[in-house]
Amino acid sequence: MSTATEVVKAKDLSMALDEISTEDDSMYISGGATVVALLNANLVNPAKLVSLKNVNELRGIKKIPNGRVQIGSMTHHSQTAASTILCGSLSGVREAASKIANPVVRNMGTIGGSIAFADPGADYPPALVAADAEVEITSKKGDRLIKAEEFFVDWYETALNPGELIKNIYLPKVDKNACGVHEKFARVEGDYATASINLILKMERNVCSSIRVAVGACGPTPVRMPDAENSLVGEKLTEDNLFELGEQLAAACDPVDDVRGSASYRLKLVPNLLIRAVQRAQEYLLKT
Ligand SMILES: Cc1cc2nc3c(=O)[nH]c(=O)nc-3n(C[C@H](O)[C@H](O)[C@H](O)COP(=O)(O)OP(=O)(O)OC[C@H]3O[C@@H](n4cnc5c(N)ncnc54)[C@H](O)[C@@H]3O)c2cc1C
Repeated sequence: MSTATEVVKAKDLSMALDEISTEDDSMYISGGATVVALLNANLVNPAKLVSLKNVNELRGIKKIPNGRVQIGSMTHHSQTAASTILCGSLSGVREAASKIANPVVRNMGTIGGSIAFADPGADYPPALVAADAEVEITSKKGDRLIKAEEFFVDWYETALNPGELIKNIYLPKVDKNACGVHEKFARVEGDYATASINLILKMERNVCSSIRVAVGACGPTPVRMPDAENSLVGEKLTEDNLFELGEQLAAACDPVDDVRGSASYRLKLVPNLLIRAVQRAQEYLLKT
């Protein structure tokens, strides 16, 4: 039987860290888009919820002195989707935010809540891995930084220890000569991805000078193949060599059959989404 949950509204970060327990009996709540659904379905029954709603130091997107971009964990998807700071190489993060669910969820959900929950079908995980983001985690013991690639550990599992809080996400300095794209295939608009591709492409005189690709929703964590990407550097990008990269990525994926699509269907989507994403990035780069 479920018992009553105490809700504490933290006034600042220090109060949030004081209120959370390192045992499994308390949880942070940021946007509440997932926590409330889990509570309603009796899938969680914490003794205490520590609300981050009033922790203003965790909100907002800004450039920091070394040129990197800091996204506070309490930044709503709608703010990320509208950020002009996220351009060029970082536009794939902005696009990923803009393709999450619907306006209601985008106004409610936060980047910290999304990556802490680590739904494999979510849009930020491949975007942050493709962007080579770092996640800043804090607790009463201090801060630590971890690469997005290492943050996502398994199905709905992250590198967070009990009581740890996601403070910020850091993105590399914007490269305005590159283009980031998030190509998402979903059954209907607003659904989680059946499969997604997030990539950053840079071209010089019609040949690829760099490409970073992450596949989403096709396994427990985003999938990358850096060696296969590197084989395209210095090459003209054609449907054939992109399809080949897509097939290599698909071979590294480990999807499941679920309501959003069968595993084999997801694997077929990967090369096709990759070609579409590269074409969109190339069109953008040609115009700029
Ligand atoms: C109808 C619907 C459709 C959706 N569709 C999509 C979609 O298409 N794509 C997509 O990517 N997502 C989708 N989502 C997920 C949504 O985008 C939210 O991001 C997600 O639910 C969690 O964000 P939140 O801020 O609401 O977190 P919450 O629900 O408040 O928390 C989620 C989890 O994160 C923990 N947590 C929260 N903040 C922190 C923090 N700062 N540090 C550590 N732990 C923390 C909580 O304890 C909890 O375990 C959908 C959600 C709904 C309800």
